[in-house]
Amino acid sequence: MTNRDDHDLSVETRVIHSDKLDADQKTGDPVVYPSVGSTVFRMAAEAEEGEIIYTRLDNPNRLHLETVLASLEGGEACAAFASGMAACTAIVQALKPGDHLLIPEDLYHGVRTLMLRIMEPWGLKVDIVDMTKLEEVARAIRPETVMVWAETPSNPLLQIVDLSALSELCRQNDLLLVVDNTWPTPINQLPLKLGADLVIHSSSKYMGGHSDLLGGAVIAREQNGLFRRIREIQRSAGAVPSPQDCWLMLRSLRTLPYRMRAHNDHAVRIADFLKAHPAVDEVYFPGLPGHPGHETARRQMAAFGGMISFLVAGDRQATARVVQGSRLIAPVTSLGGVESTWEHRVRSEGPNGRTPENLIRLSVGLEHPEDLERDLERAFSRR
Ligand SMILES: *Cc1c(COP(=O)(O)O)cnc(C)c1O
Repeated sequence: MTNRDDHDLSVETRVIHSDKLDADQKTGDPVVYPSVGSTVFRMAAEAEEGEIIYTRLDNPNRLHLETVLASLEGGEACAAFASGMAACTAIVQALKPGDHLLIPEDLYHGVRTLMLRIMEPWGLKVDIVDMTKLEEVARAIRPETVMVWAETPSNPLLQIVDLSALSELCRQNDLLLVVDNTWPTPINQLPLKLGADLVIHSSSKYMGGHSDLLGGAVIAREQNGLFRRIREIQRSAGAVPSPQDCWLMLRSLRTLPYRMRAHNDHAVRIADFLKAHPAVDEVYFPGLPGHPGHETARRQMAAFGGMISFLVAGDRQATARVVQGSRLIAPVTSLGGVESTWEHRVRSEGPNGRTPENLIRLSVGLEHPEDLERDLERAFSRR
C-alpha cells in the first residue's frame, strides 16, 4: 500500500514501516481471528498484569486455543505445547528429584521412554504397575509417591482403567492423578469430572484430526500452585506451539465433536466385522461386550472411540503382509486422522517392544465403513 507520510523515509525504512503508518487504513472486522505471527508486541510504559509482549511467553492465538481446550475438558486452565511429549515433559519437570511416580504397563511407548530413559537419570523414581488392578496400584504406593499416571483406553491394548476408583485411591493417599486423554478426547471422556487433577493431550491425534499438525496440552482442574509451575515451565523452557499451529488447531477443533461421532460409529461397526472375520484371532475394543473393561468403559465414556487393536491369525510376516495389503488404509504410526491408518505395532516399538508380533493397531477414519470393510477383505486376502 502507499502511504502519504512516508516520502521522507528511505527505502530501508519504508520496507519495515510503510504498511503501518497510515492511520486511515480499513482492515475490516474478521469473523475468524487471524494468526498473529508477530513475535513481539508493543509495550506500555509500565508492565501490566496479563500483557502480551513476546510470543514464547504469550500469544493471542495460543490464549484462544488454551481457552477452548480448558473449556472442552471442564478445567480451570490450560497450557498448550509444541507436542504431546512436550506437555508430558512439562508435568514431570514440575516434580522434584526423588519423587516417585506410578505408570501403567500398557501406555504410549514415548511416555515410557521419557520416564525411564530421561526422567529416571534426572532423579525421578518410576514404577510400572498393572493399572487395571487397583490392589496393585495401592501396593506400589510408597512414602515418596506423589503422582499416578493413567492412560485409558491404553495404547496399544485398549485396557480400561476405572478412573473414579483410581482417583478415590489417589485422594486417600494424597497423590496427583494425571490422565492421558488423547485417545478418547473430551468428547468421549472427561477425566477431570471423574477426579483427575491434570489431563494431558497429544493434540496431534484426533484434535488436529487431519494428520498435518503437532501439538500438546495440559489442562488442570484447578489453577493451583502445580499448574502455575507447569505454566512457568511452558513459558521458560519454551516448547510452545507456533501461532499458526494454534490457529490451525482451533480450526480443527471446530469439527471435533462431529468427527468423533463418526469415528465412534465406524469403529463399533468395524470391530464387529473384525470379530466375525476368520483372519482375526482376537479384537481389543472396549465397545465389545466381551472386553474385560466394557462395563467400566460404559460408565465413564460417552462412546468408545475410534481405535481398535486386533491379532491377525498368522505370524509376524503374515501380519506385515496384511498391513501392506490395503488400498485405503495407510501403514503409518500415529492415529486420529480423517483417513484410516494402521500400524504393525512391533515394527514401531523396536527390540524392547512388548506387543504381540501379530498385533495391528487400527485408527478407524471417516471413510464410508463399507469401503473400509472391502479394503480389509482385500488386505486379509494377502495374508
Ligand atoms: C501420540 C501420543 C503421545 C505423544 O504425543 P506427540 O504429539 O506425538 O508428542 C502421548 N500419548 C498418547 C496416548 C499418544 O497417542
